[in-house]
Amino acid sequence: MLLLKPDDRLTANYKLKEFLVSDRNPDLAGELYKTVAPRIENLFMLCHLILQPVSDKFKVSIHISSGYRDQRLNAATKGSSPTSSHRKGKAADIFTDNKDLLPDIFAFIRDQLRGLYFELFLYLDEKGNPDFIHVSTATHNRPERVRIVD
Ligand SMILES: [Zn+2]
Repeated sequence: MLLLKPDDRLTANYKLKEFLVSDRNPDLAGELYKTVAPRIENLFMLCHLILQPVSDKFKVSIHISSGYRDQRLNAATKGSSPTSSHRKGKAADIFTDNKDLLPDIFAFIRDQLRGLYFELFLYLDEKGNPDFIHVSTATHNRPERVRIVD
């Protein structure tokens, strides 16, 4: 098992602590470090296979609004499945300061990183503008799911 501290890097652009957050339930994020250890290898794969290639390609800051979720945080997250990939450390919800970039990032992952992801969802806000991308790493024998969610 990888044992990392929150400030340790998973890849050049990503620290473990960036996955121990929740924009919607920040009060529940403080506990995440206590249970993340068995999930760090999955976060490492997510960074290496998907997030770092996105950073290298687009050269902008990629922000994470939700990464790893423990049982409590996942249950408090509206619309989440009890078996969410976030529970396993295999998913992240990401956004950029300029959200107009999100469709390009979505297309890059969809077309250039095929075989490496399982879920790839581009979420739109209530005005129909790009809001964030949910992406998870590939799961054995399951075909990928790609959607735009409004
Ligand atoms: Zn998500």
